[in-house]
Amino acid sequence: MKETKILLTEREIPTHWYNIQADIPNPLKPPLSPATGKPATPDELGAIFPEEIIKQETGTQRFVEIPEEVRRLYGLWRPSPVYRAHRLEKALDTPARIYFKYEGTSPAGSHKLNTAIPQAYYNKQQGIKRLATETGAGQWGTALSMACKFFDMECTVYMVKISYNQKPYRRSMMQLFGAEVFASPSDKTDAGRAVLEKDPESNGSLGIAISEAVEDAVKNSDTNYALGSVLNHVVLHQTVIGLEAKKQMEKAGYYPDVVIACSGGGSNFGGIAMPFVQDKIKEGKKTRIVAAEPAACPSLTKGKFTYDYGDVAHLTPMMMMYTLGSDFMPPGIHAGGLRYHGSSPIQSQLLHDGIIEAAAFEQQDIFEAAVLFAQSEGIVPAPESSHAIKAAVDEAINAKESGEKKTILFGLSGHGYFDMAAYDNYLSGQMQNSSLPEDVLDKALEKLS
Ligand SMILES: *Cc1c(COP(=O)(O)O)cnc(C)c1O
Repeated sequence: MKETKILLTEREIPTHWYNIQADIPNPLKPPLSPATGKPATPDELGAIFPEEIIKQETGTQRFVEIPEEVRRLYGLWRPSPVYRAHRLEKALDTPARIYFKYEGTSPAGSHKLNTAIPQAYYNKQQGIKRLATETGAGQWGTALSMACKFFDMECTVYMVKISYNQKPYRRSMMQLFGAEVFASPSDKTDAGRAVLEKDPESNGSLGIAISEAVEDAVKNSDTNYALGSVLNHVVLHQTVIGLEAKKQMEKAGYYPDVVIACSGGGSNFGGIAMPFVQDKIKEGKKTRIVAAEPAACPSLTKGKFTYDYGDVAHLTPMMMMYTLGSDFMPPGIHAGGLRYHGSSPIQSQLLHDGIIEAAAFEQQDIFEAAVLFAQSEGIVPAPESSHAIKAAVDEAINAKESGEKKTILFGLSGHGYFDMAAYDNYLSGQMQNSSLPEDVLDKALEKLS
């Protein structure tokens, strides 16, 4: 029988995270302080992050030990399965082997719990009582609420208003885990009030919600801030995905020719990709490593590689990254988790250096791929994850045309069971594509000097 599911035992949960900063050919440029424009000092970062996280952010130690308590919580769902998508291969009539690593088995429904748990852990260790954060579609807020509850901490979530209204069950889920949830822009912060004054009907954006959460953390000494993507320590925590996947592919007997993941801020991509990037850098492997993003928010494929802020109010440090500009307002696509103007500095540097690639996809095409995947494999994918599916399907179709028997591995970052309204929209034929008009893009990029 051809193997469908490749599992590891609980003992095989990685003991260490992998830090690409030890091996990256061109070291990352430092984050710059919004106050001074000079490299941000640990003291400045200390206003919102615990010491251990700050160390991980800039550290170059190759392997970082995962605390025992974190590993034990990982055991709730890790190691996550790798599947061979036999039925999808058949539906595409492709000679390619398609594997996917499924992070939707996490109790939060996506990869985000991989970093929410260690972030809550390190903050708890330092005596912090409450974490403030933003959430777009609600997945990060859900993961952090759960993690805070595990460590008996409070959690405040600023949820982008359009999602707050469109995804009431995500909000309920956060509340179930004890979090306090505000629609952002809110009247709770200066940043929120400033936006509301200009535009009382504002739908919000991740950039605005980040400003609110950071302000909350800066103003309250018992409160820190937690970010669900972009930053180096988040990518570090997510490498459990790729470390496990590498072992699983070894068991399967095939090293991937292509590794694919969707990209919003770049942490799930970084998580599955970095251990394979290491092989590419150190062993000269020829693996193609592809980040899949929405055409509506094409920071990697159309953005500029420059220093930019992570938020609208410019409270975060400036990071060297591919960005569309910190006040860029992406169209309201269903893949809410991919509506971020920037991208992780790690991923950006690797893209700039030609070690990884990026591709952008239209909303209708990703839903077409999502439905084919669901009908073949029985899993309803998150709209975000479906960008990776679409990229993998395209690879498999190319393999058919060229007759190549290549191996594709993609990251399925989460399930789409809270996204049925988006599927309704697609199935009823009402879905729009939302590629960015050239003039909107040009205007956004002009603001970046
Ligand atoms: C948040 C989210 C993403 C985007 O993740 P990044 O790490 O920011 O790129 C992708 N898929 C799912 C299911 C998500 O919840």
